[in-house]
Amino acid sequence: EEPQRLQKVIAQAGLASRRGAEEMISQGRVQVNGQTVNTLGVKVTHGDHIQVDGAPIEGREKLVYYLLNKPRGVVTTNDDEKGRKTVLDILADVDQRVYPVGRLDYDTTGALLLTNDGQVANQLMHPKSQVNKTYMAKVKGIATEAQLAPLKKGVVIKGRKTAPARVAITRVDHDKKTSMVRLTIHEGRNHQVKNMLAKVGLPVEKLKREQYAFFDLVGLQPGEYRKLTNAEVKQLQ
Ligand code: URA
Repeated sequence: EEPQRLQKVIAQAGLASRRGAEEMISQGRVQVNGQTVNTLGVKVTHGDHIQVDGAPIEGREKLVYYLLNKPRGVVTTNDDEKGRKTVLDILADVDQRVYPVGRLDYDTTGALLLTNDGQVANQLMHPKSQVNKTYMAKVKGIATEAQLAPLKKGVVIKGRKTAPARVAITRVDHDKKTSMVRLTIHEGRNHQVKNMLAKVGLPVEKLKREQYAFFDLVGLQPGEYRKLTNAEVKQLQ
């Protein structure tokens, strides 16, 4: 594990902002392995015992929750083997080590939660919780109700039937021969929406997740994120 600046570790624990933590250090309120540290620049690792005002800070990482409008061209993994930009690069100013709740494809935009609350994240990702996700897809071709009908019952993808989806055609462009289709599912298989629509002959050209559970993208441009409100966090728990 990489050594981290002492003030960052204190900030991660939710005791203060980074600036506030620097002040705590300068004021002589911080000890590392029993020794008071009052200069900035000291780095610590997990094995170091840190105290603020005499109380240990370990095991007290503040739980944080963010909603991101994921832009195109960003991966949803923490560490991309090809070195591409990740969603965590966008949240670089967040002190805590958060991780995405589920995934969106590299070229998909839209609502993505990030948190360091493992309990909430696991609960949301568990198939049993059936969290609704609504997608807007731009597809090639003139979509018809008959074409979409199988998706309402479920289609077989990789040997397994999908759960019934809600589907609606919202716009058809006869000149460009494209359509807009809104689709709500609660499963989260790899490339599920693209595979479902391809299965009925409508290849996806663009995909946006408009809603995740009760979160939408109001007020968030692609690449923007916000903290969840306390009420929203309560609703998730
Ligand atoms: N379905 C997909 O095909 N891609 C996504 O990014 C999300 C759902």
